Amino acid sequence: MSDVVKNSVRISEPATTKTPEATDAPIPDVDNYVAYTLKTQKALPPIQWSNILNELNWISFLVLTIPPFVGVVGAFYIKLQWQTAIWAVVYYFMTGLGITAGYHRLWAHRAYNASLPLQYLLAILGAGSVQGSIKWWSRGHRAHHRYTDTELDPYNAHKGFMFAHIGWMLVKPRRKPGVADVSDLRHNPVVRWQHKHYISLILIMAFIFPTMVAYLAWGDAKGGFIYAGVIRLVFVHHSTFCVNSLAHWLGETPFDDKHTPRDHMVTAFVTIGEGYHNFHHQFPMDYRNAIRWYQYDPTKWTIWVMSKFGLASHLKVFPDNEVRKGQLTMELKKLRRAQEQLTWPSDSNDLPVISWESFTSQAEKRPLILISGFIHDVSNFIEEHPGGAHFIRNYIGKDATTGFFGGVYDHSNAAHNLLAMKRVGVLHGGSPHGLDDKRAIPPSQRLKIARYTELLSPGSSSAYSDGEDGLL
Ligand SMILES: [Zn+2]
Ligand SMILES: [Zn+2]
Repeated sequence: MSDVVKNSVRISEPATTKTPEATDAPIPDVDNYVAYTLKTQKALPPIQWSNILNELNWISFLVLTIPPFVGVVGAFYIKLQWQTAIWAVVYYFMTGLGITAGYHRLWAHRAYNASLPLQYLLAILGAGSVQGSIKWWSRGHRAHHRYTDTELDPYNAHKGFMFAHIGWMLVKPRRKPGVADVSDLRHNPVVRWQHKHYISLILIMAFIFPTMVAYLAWGDAKGGFIYAGVIRLVFVHHSTFCVNSLAHWLGETPFDDKHTPRDHMVTAFVTIGEGYHNFHHQFPMDYRNAIRWYQYDPTKWTIWVMSKFGLASHLKVFPDNEVRKGQLTMELKKLRRAQEQLTWPSDSNDLPVISWESFTSQAEKRPLILISGFIHDVSNFIEEHPGGAHFIRNYIGKDATTGFFGGVYDHSNAAHNLLAMKRVGVLHGGSPHGLDDKRAIPPSQRLKIARYTELLSPGSSSAYSDGEDGLL
């Protein structure tokens, strides 16, 4: 096991010690940093069966494969005592919170301030999760947020579920993660302390401490090691990994759909509350992942409780008004899709403009009625008119606006919507433009969702054609 532990330490070393300059490198002044970097920075060749043995990150590979193996074999030989079972679950949450409340929300995102005792506690517990040092972890995570779904995102979800989950650690990274500033962490005494004592800390916190608790309290050293140490570690690993895989794959995008992060309750349950990832990528500095009280976010609850004990402060919360703008945009997008599935009446820009003389003469050959400046062809509707065919026949070749809007019968919104579908032309000089005459806008279109580009092009009748050539 000491091999595993020793090896696991070194997972963090390459990124933290080999490429410190990447952290501080100034961002070049280019239009698109990602495209520029991909063009100018060399990448290692793609992984193939022929080169996989050379390209494996053996240290990480062993750290991620030996514990599951030892755990399964150990569980086969060592009986699980109920006290140890409870302790393993409790310790899973404790070390998991070291990552979620500590590494992630405190250090990677500065979502709140933690007192020194709480910082030490989180740094120690986080070490028990064996996921590299705070500095290395946060560096990669900040790049993940900054370059989400691109080649500069170390766990780019577009490379597949398994790559984002674990694959990115099993092979040598093809590129350096994109530039991300971690200068704040370099000056943090707790981060430095953890980095310095990382090997001892993971040995103690991942294996010795959980073993000792079980041994001293109920005499189950072997069970403590296997269940609260090794198996618990495997669960914490995959719990965190799910934030990079499952949270970028399963669920809804209620705040923004530009990138892969998604919200789902199942992800929240397996990640100690990090499952509202769509929200998190939109508002990463917010100390919450779940914004509703009934959503599962024990990390948020822990930070909140810590603040009540005076151990945490300045819990950052994004303004609700801005959060709701994101939600509204997504709701409007959905409605817009529903709107686009319907057939809408032609508007005055798309219809031929016809003179009054042309209208009356063409109405002798086919049933045309003028309402609100639009000429309607009612040939398929005369017999189906609920008010009787004779009413319609009376208005053929005439202006029926007043009759339609209450002079004879105040038609329903549905009738008005249906009428608009029968538009075939616009009367020259009689066409209401814009909102001059609200009756020209069918009720179904008064709250229509328009893109801003559509609003920028003002309507204009361009198809004026007088005389017998008018195409109705
Ligand atoms: Zn993410
Ligand atoms: Zn994050």
